[in-house]
Amino acid sequence: MHSSKSLSILVVGAGHCGGRTVQALRELGWQGGIDLVGEEPGLPYERPPLSKEVLSGTKIPEALDLMGQDAWQALDLRRHHARVTAVDTQAQSATLSDGSILHYSSLLFANGGSPRRLDIPGADLPGVLALRTRADAARLAPQLAPGKRLAIIGGGFIGLEVAASARKLGCAVSLVEGGPQLMGRAVPKLLAERALALHIVRGVDMHLGVSPLRITQGEAGLEVELSSGVTLQADAVLIGIGIQAGTDVAQAAGIAVARGILVDRRLRTNVPNVYAAGDVAEFPSHLSGALLRQETWQNAESQARVAAQNLMGGSVEFAASSWFWSDQYDYQLQVSGEPAAASQTIVREQEDGDVLVFYADGVNKLVGACGWGLTSRIAKDLKLARTLVERGVIATAAVLADPATKLKSLLR
Ligand code: NAP
Repeated sequence: MHSSKSLSILVVGAGHCGGRTVQALRELGWQGGIDLVGEEPGLPYERPPLSKEVLSGTKIPEALDLMGQDAWQALDLRRHHARVTAVDTQAQSATLSDGSILHYSSLLFANGGSPRRLDIPGADLPGVLALRTRADAARLAPQLAPGKRLAIIGGGFIGLEVAASARKLGCAVSLVEGGPQLMGRAVPKLLAERALALHIVRGVDMHLGVSPLRITQGEAGLEVELSSGVTLQADAVLIGIGIQAGTDVAQAAGIAVARGILVDRRLRTNVPNVYAAGDVAEFPSHLSGALLRQETWQNAESQARVAAQNLMGGSVEFAASSWFWSDQYDYQLQVSGEPAAASQTIVREQEDGDVLVFYADGVNKLVGACGWGLTSRIAKDLKLARTLVERGVIATAAVLADPATKLKSLLR
């Protein structure tokens, strides 16, 4: 491990992953300097409550901070409210948007990404919004008053969670998804169909397999013209069509990028002393070797810890099993492990339409699981399914598919 107090670690991005990294650096005993660079005001925070509790007003934005003020001050770091515009990997320095230049002994890209822009006429009209930051949530929240009309473009996690929040608040909600199913990239069809049915029951006007063509300002609000010939009327339009990983600065610095910044299992880029973690990092799965980019809370948490150790000179491999959840109304969805690495899919129907899906390899070893159901009914089983995957439990399809099998009994 490096020991000199003159060494300095530069963390690019003051979001969830960057915030947890600087915290871990001090916890692990780093005594050198730390520069944390990111434009957003306030302390680093976690994003999941933005689309739920913050919009529905049950949490104030400051409640999302990763730590209290005292803990933050104790980190004794240099916080720069700016963007990194260039990195010189030879000189080991970075240029900031405020003109300053920082030198580093090691650097972490934890700069996440930004909402993908919808490339149609009218997508830049006032009232067409995205949701990624606290400022975005502050712009969207006033649009979610009873009786207001919200049109959502994108049936992914942002779109569906905001649809649920907006319905709970009494808005009229319509949702447009380009693909044939909701959450197409991350969730199997069976679960997506149950989520679709729930949103329809709760009053969302769903348009699947349809593209928005243009948005215009009409006399009674915004109008979203769809490829199906339908025109939606709305007071606000939310675009949730995924994020674009922030690879530009790394790429310009000669660092290898693909869908994200490419790293190895130790989160190292192809350039010495430069690492990436969180939403922006594209890393090899410890299970399958497949290149993954995980835009999840848990990935930000667990990669931050590994990144901190390696930034200090350690050599730790990232091998956490992936996991995410989504809360929609009083229902929850979870996905854990790596379903794509499986050769068998096992469906387990539980009570009242709750469902678990297990994924196993050729020797019946669990590599993934997902589930959907009423949160109060299925939460325990979702947790057990995740633990079974983390432990790589071996179980036959017949045992897993039988709802009479107590999942807890498989842990022994
Ligand atoms: P997302 O989950 O990737 O979903 C985007 C959705 O929009 C996809 O279903 C996509 O369909 C669809 N889409 C793309 N272009 C479209 C178009 N032109 N018209 C209509 N639909 C279109 O991304 P997101 O919902 O925007 O969320 C942003 C980020 O926040 C993601 O990283 C997400 O994982 C994260 N997030 C996570 C959670 C959670 O884990 N609970 C909650 C909220 C947000 P195709 O796949 O067919 O392109």
